Amino acid sequence: MIYRTFHDLSISLLGMGNMRLPTTVERGPIDEARAREIIEYLYAQGVNYFDTGYRYHNGESEPFVGKVLSQYPRDSWYLATKFPGHMMHVKDGKIEFAGYLTGLTLDSPQAIFEDQLSRCGVDYFDFYLLHNMCEASIDTYMDEQIGIVRYLLEQREAGRIRYLGFSTHARPETIERFLDWEGSFDFVQIQLNYLDWTLQNAKRKYEILVERGIPVMVMEPCRGGRLATLNDEVSAMLKEARPDDSIASWAFRFVKSLPGVQVVLSGMSTLDQAKENVRTFSDPTSLSEEENGLLERVVASLVDLVPCTACEYCLEACPMDLPIPNLIALYNEMSFERSPGIHFALIALSEEQMPSNCIACGECAKMCPQGIEIPEIMERLAKAIADMPQMGPPAPPQPARTP
Ligand code: SF4
Ligand code: SF4
Repeated sequence: MIYRTFHDLSISLLGMGNMRLPTTVERGPIDEARAREIIEYLYAQGVNYFDTGYRYHNGESEPFVGKVLSQYPRDSWYLATKFPGHMMHVKDGKIEFAGYLTGLTLDSPQAIFEDQLSRCGVDYFDFYLLHNMCEASIDTYMDEQIGIVRYLLEQREAGRIRYLGFSTHARPETIERFLDWEGSFDFVQIQLNYLDWTLQNAKRKYEILVERGIPVMVMEPCRGGRLATLNDEVSAMLKEARPDDSIASWAFRFVKSLPGVQVVLSGMSTLDQAKENVRTFSDPTSLSEEENGLLERVVASLVDLVPCTACEYCLEACPMDLPIPNLIALYNEMSFERSPGIHFALIALSEEQMPSNCIACGECAKMCPQGIEIPEIMERLAKAIADMPQMGPPAPPQPARTP
């Protein structure tokens, strides 16, 4: 197992994500025997980072993971969980819940945090995250009256949280705004994989964190299993280069080759996935330049990207103040597949920023060094959004998918 140093800790580069544990029936309760077998196998192989969340598996994940880990010495594993602020709104100075937390009765940061400690059966968390700081939740997290971050900083000060961070699907500029507001976060968790490197501008998010010296925890390295099964043509390219390796292992090897990455989380649903991941994360070699080039070709053949480099030259030209690079990133994402990332990108847009506001003046295209026909992209994107089914809150995490 590969380990990387974090302050005075030695943490396994492979971390176990506990939101896709095996279940007895689809969306049903955790299959405790099979899930326990996976966690115990990983621990025996040297994995020591275990990530969960308040509402994973309908609230079952935290107590289950805490119970399994409690058989081992407390200082031999690191537990990470998350504060569910992404499903809260502040109204009249009080917390209200939305989405899959509707009906939750706990109504203060303190009550939720204490409940989590008790559910996990621990008296401190090694790693604690604000869950999904994004354009829709940043105001809740920054609300001084509710004081979520202030309370959690106090818990860190008191030793009940060893390291405080946040997970995020936000745009790069939102991540920067949040880090400028509170500069003492110990780590940040982002969605990072070779496809989203371009598609969701994960490269820029990664760079922001590395530039600030903030360790990166990686989630969705395999894009929820999407990068474990590729089309025949692309699979053949990867198999020819490394016949003995699975398609999924390329996704893991990409992220583990990046300096600054502290932990790569994988939501393992089967023992076979766990075994394969242990093998991948025991190999210290990085992707070669040739292999990186191969992955770039894979991405190019998976999705016909509009080649926006986010240089922002077009922004000043737009009389409607449209966030053109962000809209093109959304267009690229929608051309690939309907993923939760689209939901997060859409809720980040105000009414004025919607592509339907484009008046097709063409001023932006004159500025674009890539020669992109921006008005045409805006028109297609506006139509794609109009054709989408009505948006609801994001679905709760789904168990039992591929690695
Ligand atoms: S064509 Fe649309 S996006 Fe481009 S500058 Fe005009 S209004 Fe803005
Ligand atoms: S000028 Fe072209 S490449 Fe640059 S951000 Fe605008 S659309 Fe993208």
